[in-house]
Amino acid sequence: MREIVLEENAVTLAENSGWLAQKLVIAGKRGHPDQSFKKRIPLPKGMPRLAYTLLVEFKRIGESPDGNQIRRHRELREHGQEVHVIDTFDDFERLLEWAEGEIKRISDALRR
Ligand SMILES: [Mg+2]
Repeated sequence: MREIVLEENAVTLAENSGWLAQKLVIAGKRGHPDQSFKKRIPLPKGMPRLAYTLLVEFKRIGESPDGNQIRRHRELREHGQEVHVIDTFDDFERLLEWAEGEIKRISDALRR
């Protein structure tokens, strides 16, 4: 599957599952991931408004991130950001499922 087709299909799946998909270009930051996916972490009233954010670099199947991307991913991860490199739709579906589990886990932990 071409990278752009994979990205478009992933955005459609994510939006249909309640995620906010945004294509972001960060000025002066080469290698920033292709898409940001955000979803609210459900919390009781009076608690902070929190979103879970996944950044995804899409690739043609078998293709790896380039040097700028590797450096940017490392910088983002050092600051606590989830960054994933995805080259198949199945892997994207699994990533969203995993992230939904993380959102539930965080939500449950903050309610205790
Ligand atoms: Mg890409």
